[in-house]
Formats: sequence, structure tokens, C-alpha cells
Amino acid sequence: MGPRFHGREHFAPKGGGGSYRLLPFRFGQLDLRRYVVMNDVGEHVVLAREELVAFARHQLSPASEVYRALKVRHFLFDADSECALDLLALKYRTRADRIADFTGLHIFVVTLRCDHSCHYCQVSRQTEDKSAFDMSREHAERALALTFRSPARSIKIEFQGGEPLLHFDLVRFIVERATALNEEHRRDLQFVIASNLARITDDMLAFCKQYGIHFSTSLDGPEAQHDAHRPLRGGKSHARVLEGIRRVRAALGHDAVSALMTTTPSSLGQVEAIVDEYVRQGFRSIFLRSLSPYGFAVRTSLVRKYGVDDWLDFYRRGLAYILELNRRGCAFQEEYTTILLQKLFSAQGSSYVDLQSPAGIGIGGIVYNYDGAVYASDEGRMLAEMGDGTFELGHLGSDTYEAMLTNDAFVGILQDTLLESSPMCSDCPFLACCGADPVFHQVTSGDPVGHKAFSAFCAKQMGVMRHLITLLEDDPEARRILMGWV
Ligand code: SF4
Ligand code: SF4
Repeated sequence: MGPRFHGREHFAPKGGGGSYRLLPFRFGQLDLRRYVVMNDVGEHVVLAREELVAFARHQLSPASEVYRALKVRHFLFDADSECALDLLALKYRTRADRIADFTGLHIFVVTLRCDHSCHYCQVSRQTEDKSAFDMSREHAERALALTFRSPARSIKIEFQGGEPLLHFDLVRFIVERATALNEEHRRDLQFVIASNLARITDDMLAFCKQYGIHFSTSLDGPEAQHDAHRPLRGGKSHARVLEGIRRVRAALGHDAVSALMTTTPSSLGQVEAIVDEYVRQGFRSIFLRSLSPYGFAVRTSLVRKYGVDDWLDFYRRGLAYILELNRRGCAFQEEYTTILLQKLFSAQGSSYVDLQSPAGIGIGGIVYNYDGAVYASDEGRMLAEMGDGTFELGHLGSDTYEAMLTNDAFVGILQDTLLESSPMCSDCPFLACCGADPVFHQVTSGDPVGHKAFSAFCAKQMGVMRHLITLLEDDPEARRILMGWV
């Protein structure tokens, strides 16, 4: 009887240097000493310059560590790599799968009325008495019919405004109708209300409990920071949102409410206090979000009061503080970082709508506005309020589902948002972790692609990716914590 296991020599790479072939990859400088190489599925290796040169010239020794690292991550294949190409193709298909599974997120703007007047508000919110800015039942019915035309297995209906609780009768109507329609369609159906929670009532909470509705709210940090940019008639927006969070948790469970923060100029010096506020209020994560150039953020010039480098400093300090909290035993995550880690390490990548190629507009989410207009993204409707209808797909009163999703202008923009064929992006090492933001580029540079050398979006992505990969490479303790977030 022969040996049951092969000896070491069986697993040793065959042939000498030069006998391997390269698989597709992009590379770029990480810092003064090192380069990062990344492939289409987010696998990456950090190399010294001479290692990169030797790799590209087919001069790496099969016995070297670098060779093994590049081989297991699909950057090269040799005579022993029987299924390397098939495996890489399978990984690519898995990540692209969500394109066929469109559209998962359906945003219903049930009213533009709002009781707040936030300085950075991205929508053209209206005062509470203007019912002309409410969605009608006819438009809601029509939007629901379109919602269930989407092939997506999971459908999330998100109510936005203005303040959706000011038009809760329509929220109730849509939830009940969607639930009834889903008896036939059998999708995994979820509901979320984006609300400042100032007007929440017991009656609303009882309804939300009956239908498993969750909330997403805004919390910008400690009281002074939050109240500085979120004026509410009678004041005390911070106190009202904390009370709302407490009531939602008591009625629906601890995880039934999540919160988002917006970085204003006055946030920049106090990221630790903002993170502490999230920890104090029992949240397990924070999304360090920069301001977007839409609506009141532009009208009040708030968006011009800090630049990408200021935000990157804020982000790096915030992440360092969050990692320190984790080292001290407090499990807490930064969500933008988690999305990028998913793109680096998870087989499915990330479904985050704002970082997709082609862009997530229309594919990831669609917006039914209060007036019946349909937009390819939430930012697209904000841009329309500023007078630019580039991302309008059609109207609930006159257009069919097919006409809206195959309209030439929309399909043309989608084609332009494929990073693989966008100038600069096509050569960028971070492509697999990035996405297209056509609305941002339309508003900042006048076309959906933009010039990436002058793009704040691009500068932010590059800054965050370089920082994250450096942490993963150079700080084993940070790496251990970050890998626990994926
Ligand atoms: S950001 Fe939200 S809560 Fe504030 S004014 Fe705009 S719609 Fe209202
Ligand atoms: S936007 Fe910038 S960071 Fe993103 S893929 Fe394009 S060049 Fe790279």
C-alpha cells in the first residue's frame, strides 16, 4: 500500500522564475516606499517597488513569500494553478450578481413639510402648513405598482421627507397596501422611516410594531453640536431626538432605530465627543458622513466651509479613537470603514448604493417624489430641486416602468458610470473598493463622470483607502479589530 499523503515536494511550485502568467490587476503608490496591487474582486497585496517590478517582469522566485501571496490572491497563475481563472471569474460574478437583482430600495417622499429647518438640509423642505407638498394616494398606489415590478428578492420601502411623520396617514396607507400586495409577490419586504422623531406618538409606534417598521434618525453629536445646525420651533432638537430614540427602543426593541450624523464645520474639532455621544446613547456604530453639496448646504454656503483634507483629518482621528475604544473593550464600528472592508474582504462585496460600478442610481434605489416625479436616486431629486432634472426618470402619472428604466438618457448615464471605462478610474488601484457618484459630479463639475484629478469625491476615496490599507499593513492590533467588523 502506497503513502496516504503526498510529501512536501508534491506541493512545491514547479519550474523556476518566469514560468508564471499575470492575471488582471491595477497598482498605485501607497506611500513613499510601497505600492498596492489590487484585482477586480478587491484582493490586494502591498509590495516594495522592487518586488512590484520583479513581479511584472516575471522574475519572482516561486519559493518567495511574495510569490505565494500573489498566487493565493489571484495575481498570477502557474502550472500548479489548475482552476485559478475559474475561481477568479466566479468571485467576479458573485460580486456583480446584485446588478441583476435590481431595484432593492424604493424611497417614498411622502411630504416635503418639516418641523425642523436644518442648515445643511439637502431637500427643499417646506413649512408645516403647506399640504401642496404632500404625496397623493393615487401617486402612492402607482409607485407601489412600480415597486413590485422590480425583480429584487428583497425590497426595502423607505419613507423620507421632509418629515414623514407629518403625513403619517399616507405612510399607514402605503404600508398596508404594500403588505397586501406582497401576499401575491412574496418578497422579503422591509419598511424604514427616516425621521427626526420629534413628532412620534404612541399610536404611530403601535402601528410600527404591528408591521415591523424600523427608524433611521439624525444625531449630530452632543447637545450643543446637534442643536447648532438643527433648529426646531421651540428648540431642543437634541432632547427631542433622544426622547424619540428612547420611545422607539421601548416599543420596538433596541435595534429598531439607527442614527446618522452629518459633519458640519463645528464637528471637525470634536470627533471624539461625537463618538462618545453615540456610545452613550447605546449605538454600536457611527457613520462619519461629510456634507453633500445639495439644497440648503449650498444656499447657506456651509458646504464650502471645509475641504476634503479637513474631513480626512476628522475621519482619521475618529477612526483612531474608535479603534482605541475597541482596544479598551468597547465594541463599536465606523460604518464607512466597514463598507470598504466588505469590498476588500467579503465575497459579495458591499451593497452600499453610493459605491457601485455602474453607479447604484436606479439599480440600487429609486425615488418616488411627493409630486409624482420619479428619480434615479435621492440626490437626483435634490438636484432637481436645484433646477437640474438630469436624473429624472419620468412621472408616475404618465410613464410606464419600462419607459422609465430604459430611457436613453438614464441608460447613457449608467454606461458612463462604469469605472472600468472611466478616465483615471480604469487605472486606479482602488477601483474595486470605489464607485461612481454621477450626481455629485454633475453638481460639482457639470457632467456625471467628472474629472477625477479635481474631484473631491475621488480625493476622499483615495485618502480613506490609503489610510485603511496602511492600518491593515502596519498595525496588527488595528487589523485584528478591523477584520472583526467584516
Ligand atoms: S434635514 Fe431632515 S429634519 Fe432637517 S430640515 Fe431637512 S428634512 Fe427636516
Ligand atoms: S474615483 Fe478616484 S479613487 Fe475612485 S476609482 Fe476613480 S480614480 Fe480611483
